Amino acid sequence: MPELPEMEITARRLGEALPGLAIESVMTPGLNVLKTFDPPLHAVDAGAFTGVRRRGKLLLLDVDTATGEPLTFLTHLMSAGRLQLLDKRGSLRDRTSRVLWRLPEDRELRLREFGTKQAAWIKLLRPDAVAADEQLRTLGPEAWPDPPELGALLRSPRPLHSLLRDQQVVAGIGRTWVDEILHAARLSPFKRGDDLSEEEAEALREAMISELGRVLDVYEDRVALPLPEKFPKPTRVHAHQGEPCPRCETTLEAVFYEDYVMSYCPRCQTEGRVLKDRRLSRLLK
Ligand SMILES: [Zn+2]
Repeated sequence: MPELPEMEITARRLGEALPGLAIESVMTPGLNVLKTFDPPLHAVDAGAFTGVRRRGKLLLLDVDTATGEPLTFLTHLMSAGRLQLLDKRGSLRDRTSRVLWRLPEDRELRLREFGTKQAAWIKLLRPDAVAADEQLRTLGPEAWPDPPELGALLRSPRPLHSLLRDQQVVAGIGRTWVDEILHAARLSPFKRGDDLSEEEAEALREAMISELGRVLDVYEDRVALPLPEKFPKPTRVHAHQGEPCPRCETTLEAVFYEDYVMSYCPRCQTEGRVLKDRRLSRLLK
């Protein structure tokens, strides 16, 4: 699922390739994928891409239209979307297609989504609407490369595992990389934000920078255009339950939720306590 590192490498790779490319037309075979109606989608026909930006897990594709008006595609891939820049246009029968940006020489920028849910979306916005966009405006500070001091930011009775994934608190972290960050900082996923000492808040900030940076370094080496359907997964803790902790070799444990897993090391993070498996304890009730 695309989080900050996946979106950052997507922004970098598309940022190297898209600017200057003309847009022939845009099609949206996805159901309700386009969340705006004004300006109309054909406003970008015969325009050109000018730049690619990332904010949190969102991507902004800037366009100059044929009339010289700047417009922006704001894009959220949600949990199962991917952007790919392909040399050949896809078959219209490809049921994963949500948005097709038709480019010259039969090329295509394609937003695809895997699985049955259609959740990924785009908006086509004028500059004032980009500035006013609720989703963008309410995002917290970037988790990487230079997050602010976390003590004040996380002062809340909520557990770290949920606080860090709240995009309005800090932008970019999701279910995969939160486990790696908390493990690197030696913090329990259930520790409350307002129970963090100054040293712990600083360790967490450093872990955020180093873990997201580590993943991004791997992607810099291994992720190229057209961009993959599946990213390499340089995880060491997330979904590695049952394997030895990469730091102390204690067996990693996990708590299973309905649609995701939270993995941790009992020795490094929870003072030896094995946290209750919520799914199991609900079944036993
Ligand atoms: Zn450990």
